[in-house]
Amino acid sequence: MRVTVLGSGSSVPDPERGQSAFAVETGSRSILIDAGENCTRALKAAGVAWAGVDAVFITHFHNDHLAGLIPLLFATTIYGNRSKPMTLYGPAGLEHYVNTIAQVEGEWLQNPTFEITIKEIDCGDVVAIDRGVTVKAFEVDHKEVSLGYRVSAGGNTVSFSGDTKYCANLVLLAKNADAFFCEKGVADDSDHPNHIHWSEIGKAAAKADAKKLVLTHFGESIDEAAMLAAIQKEFNGKIVVGKDRLAIELP
Ligand SMILES: [Zn+2]
Ligand SMILES: [Zn+2]
Repeated sequence: MRVTVLGSGSSVPDPERGQSAFAVETGSRSILIDAGENCTRALKAAGVAWAGVDAVFITHFHNDHLAGLIPLLFATTIYGNRSKPMTLYGPAGLEHYVNTIAQVEGEWLQNPTFEITIKEIDCGDVVAIDRGVTVKAFEVDHKEVSLGYRVSAGGNTVSFSGDTKYCANLVLLAKNADAFFCEKGVADDSDHPNHIHWSEIGKAAAKADAKKLVLTHFGESIDEAAMLAAIQKEFNGKIVVGKDRLAIELP
């Protein structure tokens, strides 16, 4: 399994960091977790087959997590020379989102050149993408409805928090994960209502016994040393500050 960070940023414009997106390649399948703005370009830049995505999983309907979905479908339709189907997964509302845009953009999205299936999923749903490749959805605490995803294949597991506050499901999501991709959160003294505090990231990773913690979703400038110190007080495993095109190979 190979996981590539396509976008380690958020909606804050950053020349070095694209909006949220990750590619998980399992050998037999290519999966996108979130599809932030310019994720197609990021796939190309990272050397991942941009027209070969089998499934896309959207965590929630904030635009920095799905603004690149329609452009991915458009590029793949027009330039992808593709016939295999693609399935889009996400919380309730995904079908309405795509269909509403299809009403405006017309033929290419109403009758695409390859089969596009939309499946709205709930917390606890397990999706089998292929034999031995599963994705499990966990409801997290950010906006209504927000999902985190746990991808398992070939004996490896990687987890993606999406955006979230601290919640019990975050620990279940990341339980024994080989890599836990978690949003970088906010300082412990921040009263931001929708994002996890730094020490809580460490607490979740420690309780889950995650083997590696990868921080993503960077935006406003922060004191990175203070962030790492706060997390390390709770979690003594490996911590990686995510960046675009970072690839993690799991045996
Ligand atoms: Zn976000
Ligand atoms: Zn969000």
